[in-house]
Amino acid sequence: MLEEYDLHVHTTASDGTLTPCEVIDEAISAGLKGLAITDHDTVAGLTPAQQYVEQNDLPLVFIPGIELNTEAGDEEVHILGYFINPDNAALNQHLQDIRTARYNRTLQMVNRLQDAGMVISFDQVQTLAKGESMGRPHVARALIQNGYVSSIKEAFDKYIGRGRPGFVPRYKFVPAEAIELINNAGGIPVLAHPGLIKEREKIIEVIRLGIKGLEVYYPEHSLEQQRDLIKLAEHYNLLITGGSDYHGPGSEESRASIGASTISFDLLKQIELHLTSNGCTAR
Ligand code: AMP
Ligand code: FE
Ligand code: FE
Ligand code: ZN
Repeated sequence: MLEEYDLHVHTTASDGTLTPCEVIDEAISAGLKGLAITDHDTVAGLTPAQQYVEQNDLPLVFIPGIELNTEAGDEEVHILGYFINPDNAALNQHLQDIRTARYNRTLQMVNRLQDAGMVISFDQVQTLAKGESMGRPHVARALIQNGYVSSIKEAFDKYIGRGRPGFVPRYKFVPAEAIELINNAGGIPVLAHPGLIKEREKIIEVIRLGIKGLEVYYPEHSLEQQRDLIKLAEHYNLLITGGSDYHGPGSEESRASIGASTISFDLLKQIELHLTSNGCTAR
């Protein structure tokens, strides 16, 4: 039985394949004590999940979260936000704008792929995107469906990754904006999977922007990276978090299973303490 907390999971509200309630069930079956739902650019999964846990008195600590994909130069920088207030007006307005930009970007990507002679339609991608936050993983799934590739990774490598024929740059959204948005919504901004950032200097840059924690425990981090990140967190007095980045079965990108990376109750307490010491409340 895991005595642990997985703080990074996606649902159908963004690019996961399980609904918020199904993800909660799966977390409980896996023996997790707690779970954070961190969908890309949407809070739509949070209230249903919270209510499902409360109304059924389920044995799981539910933590509201979000993941905002930003860019610093040509490097992907993903920022997690924990204990955000899902009803925060500024947050919701901004997320709506981002999702509209996501929609338009996806449309452009489909057009580019069609111009390259490929069979794919926007309708198909829309059907694959069950929630309100549409993105490249949904385009990738359409490419799998149509037989062009056999995995999401292959779709990124051949067609929709940076510099590939179907790639369209993301709307302009930088780490500083994501951090401010999360702070203003009463949340704690944490740098997601820092081990995937190629330039170490970029990590330091984001820390200096006011990030409060590092996602140290992550399936794709080596033990050496973990050790290095722990040192960095200690040096800059940052919280330590962790999670699996689970996207559900059949997502073709389930690089991990739920609970593949977790944190202990003690580390979760540190995060919660930070919230109280800041004078912030979750809702
Ligand atoms: P987007 O925000 O629409 O540009 O899509 C980026 C998302 O695609 C990331 O947050 C991941 O969930 C997913 N992703 C990016 N690269 C890969 C990859 N190589 N394999 C699988 N999923 C990926
Ligand atoms: Fe994702
Ligand atoms: Fe991410
Ligand atoms: Zn993620």
